[in-house]
Amino acid sequence: MGWFSSDIENVDDLFRHSLQDIYYAEQQIEKSLPDMIEKASDAELKKGFRMHLKQTKQQIKRLDQAFKKLKSKPKGTKCPAIDGIIDEANEIAGEVADKMVLNAALIAAAQAIEHYEITRYCTLVAWAKLLGLNDVAKLLAANLREEKATDKKLNGIAKRKINRKALARQQKPMRSSRNEQMEADAALLAAAGIPPV
Ligand code: FE
Ligand code: FE
Ligand code: FE
Repeated sequence: MGWFSSDIENVDDLFRHSLQDIYYAEQQIEKSLPDMIEKASDAELKKGFRMHLKQTKQQIKRLDQAFKKLKSKPKGTKCPAIDGIIDEANEIAGEVADKMVLNAALIAAAQAIEHYEITRYCTLVAWAKLLGLNDVAKLLAANLREEKATDKKLNGIAKRKINRKALARQQKPMRSSRNEQMEADAALLAAAGIPPV
């Protein structure tokens, strides 16, 4: 179903479409979290991802309940945004060799995911209320609270240690590459018969 195609005629259709969008997104997140848990080398970060995987499973159950209250079958619709965020995260993670820098990249990717979820759930809660679907709004608000708490927690871990540890790692390779460059320059000069300065 394309966005704003004739399949979506009113706010109720829009709401149901967005519910399917987040249902799909949560399932993709559920699939990608085990990989993030494995890649994380910081114990606290690993634990945080593990906890969020549990929460994600619970969130999917809440969405199942929301569909039930709407008397419709739980169904996902492809969300190109979450696919893109996850693809980008995998691509970047594949290019990071240093473990500490990888932890920083994983947090950044996880926060991008949380921010997508937050924006979707904020809208869904507002539309559910608008449509008078208060029970559904409560289920969605529970998911929203968990996403916000997760984002805050990730931010805390990043600021308190991960980013600083990643930065500390940066100093060594930079110095050694400069040394390597100087050695390479000296070797070139020696080969050309020019004595070092
Ligand atoms: Fe979620
Ligand atoms: Fe989407
Ligand atoms: Fe989440």
